[in-house]
Amino acid sequence: MTERLVIIGNGMAPGRMLEHLFELAPGRFRVTIFNAEPRVNYDRIMLSPVLSGEKRFEEIVIHGDGWYVANGITLYKGHRIVAIDRVAKTVTSSHGVTEPYDRLVIATGSSPFILPVPGKDLAGVLSYRDLDDVEAMILAAQAGVKAVVIGGGLLGLEAAAGLRAQGMAVSVVHLMPTLMERQLDPAAGYLLQKALEKRGIEVITGATTRAIRGETRVEGVELADGRIIEAGLVVMAAGIRPSADLARDAGIAVGRGILVDAQMATSDPAILALGECAEIGGRVYGLVAPLYQMAEVAARSLAGAPGKGFAHSDTPTKLKVTGIDLYSVGDFADGEGRDEIVLRDAAAGVYKRLVLKDNRILGAVLYGETADGGWFGDLLKKGADVSAMRDTLIFGQSYQGGAPLDPMAAVAALPDDAEICGCNGVCKGKITGAIVAGGLTTIDDVRAYTKASSSCGSCTGLVEQLMSLTLGAAFNPTAVKPICPCTDLGHGDVRRLIVAKALKSIPAVMQELQWKTSCGCAKCRPALNYYLIAEWPGEYVDDKQSRFINERVHANIQKDGTYSVVPRMWGGMTTAAELRAIADVVDKFQIPAVKCTGGQRIDMLGVKKEDLPAVWADLGAAGMVSGAAYAKGLRTVKTCVGTDWCRFGTQDSTGLGIRIEKFMWGSWTPAKVKMAVSGCPRNCAEATCKDVGVICVDSGYDIHFAGAAGLDIKGTEVLCHVATEEEALEVIVALTQLYREQGHYLERMYKWLKRVGMESIRAAVVEDREKRLAYFERFRHSQSFSQKDPWAERASGRVAAHEFRPMAELGLREAAE
Ligand SMILES: Cc1cc2nc3c(=O)[nH]c(=O)nc-3n(C[C@H](O)[C@H](O)[C@H](O)COP(=O)(O)OP(=O)(O)OC[C@H]3O[C@@H](n4cnc5c(N)ncnc54)[C@H](O)[C@@H]3O)c2cc1C
Ligand code: SF4
Repeated sequence: MTERLVIIGNGMAPGRMLEHLFELAPGRFRVTIFNAEPRVNYDRIMLSPVLSGEKRFEEIVIHGDGWYVANGITLYKGHRIVAIDRVAKTVTSSHGVTEPYDRLVIATGSSPFILPVPGKDLAGVLSYRDLDDVEAMILAAQAGVKAVVIGGGLLGLEAAAGLRAQGMAVSVVHLMPTLMERQLDPAAGYLLQKALEKRGIEVITGATTRAIRGETRVEGVELADGRIIEAGLVVMAAGIRPSADLARDAGIAVGRGILVDAQMATSDPAILALGECAEIGGRVYGLVAPLYQMAEVAARSLAGAPGKGFAHSDTPTKLKVTGIDLYSVGDFADGEGRDEIVLRDAAAGVYKRLVLKDNRILGAVLYGETADGGWFGDLLKKGADVSAMRDTLIFGQSYQGGAPLDPMAAVAALPDDAEICGCNGVCKGKITGAIVAGGLTTIDDVRAYTKASSSCGSCTGLVEQLMSLTLGAAFNPTAVKPICPCTDLGHGDVRRLIVAKALKSIPAVMQELQWKTSCGCAKCRPALNYYLIAEWPGEYVDDKQSRFINERVHANIQKDGTYSVVPRMWGGMTTAAELRAIADVVDKFQIPAVKCTGGQRIDMLGVKKEDLPAVWADLGAAGMVSGAAYAKGLRTVKTCVGTDWCRFGTQDSTGLGIRIEKFMWGSWTPAKVKMAVSGCPRNCAEATCKDVGVICVDSGYDIHFAGAAGLDIKGTEVLCHVATEEEALEVIVALTQLYREQGHYLERMYKWLKRVGMESIRAAVVEDREKRLAYFERFRHSQSFSQKDPWAERASGRVAAHEFRPMAELGLREAAE
């Protein structure tokens, strides 16, 4: 019989628990989740990259809407549970929904601690906990106010760096003499402060906040010494408290958090608690690694197969601020019988300190160079005796006697369940398994398939070592191919940094990302032009000189130096008036050849460059626009005749094709995009070799993508099935936008799929409607700037007129001079 499992809170811990539970006991529970936040489960630790602009919310969602549907979970979004009735075994939400349970899991996380100072409730005072906070901070940044962050711990500093990246003036006010004093010793804290100040963040340590000033909204922060710091935004990041009130009110035993045993059971055996709200062995936790361990334990316990239970281990701390490397783990306070090993390299800004007792590592602090963090952490976890390597211990793993010959030995020796990526809780076996099963060859592939190394990035070195071990010579760790010799950065990094640093012009990208040439080259300029146009629609002005000749003149150059002109024919349909206009143009400009293209259009070949504007003007007068047959953008949407004419057609394939084309024309994409819609599986429009293809069937529309019929020949993959034309358009547009945002310049859709994997694409545009609509909306927004016919602009003579002015015809001899 299915049992009713109710979960309060939909954060990272219960999300992970359910993944385990569905594996261990499929079908055993009917799951209902109540979440006070009005959204699906997302990677909370990645809010900082969202704040700094390095990621979008859609990229940090862990389980999209589709996942809940697929697993039969009822998710109440925006429902806060206000009461647990342990006798009736029900929970009741703020909206009045009462749900019975057989087993209940409380996973309410933590609440930010708000300093009890005057002014704490003023508008403009925020905490840093969820997406709403991040969105409010980004809005404040856009308003150009100054920010004060109260709290110089991990969260506060990530908030400060994120706000600074958004262009705000930021001050950090910290109570203690050095930053992150719980994770860093004073020397490392000092280096961190210097690094932040170098980025333009003011740091005020040893400062007590007395009040927040302002009438109705924040105007400043008053310190105990009387100083007043001007502020339009105050972010309180002064600590967190387990959210345990609900449990306390229900009579469940609570200390600092909800008291649980090693199997995550509370004082009521029908109720479990896990995550930041739980207290176990006198400790509460605020990092995901132990919470994921709790998740596994709770899943086993619910599945009726309890394992060995939760055991404490130290979790390393890393700061997710791009360009600042720090790592700390364990206990590094001074004490009886403890000694330390310290390495300082002032010039390189490197500081390393190990605290030892009885020849075992108790704690490690690394700043500036953190590659050995995992190794020190592992020695600490195992309680390894380091006396034999004590002299060289601080220099790291590669200096150790016996081991320097093979720096991979330690990684090779790790058991399959050794955690490699702490942020995402990915173990060695999962990574090596995915490399083999998925034929993964690049770090990006591994990130897309396993999530390892996709968060704070500190495990990237380890993941690369695992790739080397698994693939041998087939793995090239430097395989992040730079875009071109002008830079060492690959396409992915350049795209990410354009967003993170809000770079909005080609010179800005080249300057900020340290291009090695003054003006770039024919490889990087078109790529940068595309990335900027895709990222900042409406703001970035297209740089004509960064386009290839065909895109610059909006026609295809042919081998004799003349051009071919292809007007758009929506979904392959035309009219007598259009055909007449084409015929007139052919006569008037003595165009030598007219041909039907494979994409159901008419190609006029042999047009002189200087005639192009006049040809376009005449075609434009008949209502025709550029077919973009030259573009790294949407080209054709080929259709069959569908239900209008064909005996077999199941849907209006022509109508859908026209609708798609009218919606999407003018859009720029990483490489050309061709589409087709066939009215039935007979597939007369050859939709299964296109970038996007639709096959209409009785029950709706099968959406295919990632086909090719050029240099590479490839059949499409099936993305999904949808019931209505509306949904088909939604999915196709969202898919194209995802490709626009992730594709490397000149990377066709099928290559993009191979790189990022089907799973992530489906998760973004099929399973999760909210995400899909967000991509759809971004595409629509960008279209409001793109759907200008380039032919009309040029035919008017106001745009790029010089491009089409005739030059003197030179004979060979003259040209040589
Ligand atoms: C900005 C930021 C950066 C971080 N960086 C890192 C990092 O780098 N590394 C790391 O390991 N950890 C980091 N953390 C901490 C990590 O995110 C948390 O430890 C983890 O998300 C906690 O998971 P949880 O499931 O216990 O709770 P949460 O993810 O907080 O989820 C609790 C959910 O319960 C909901 N809820 C609360 N009360 C109720 C109720 N009565 N009814 C219904 N729903 C309710 C809340 O709305 C919330 O959605 C960071 C946290 C933040 C905020
Ligand atoms: S694909 Fe089907 S509906 Fe379309 S023309 Fe061919 S047979 Fe007819």
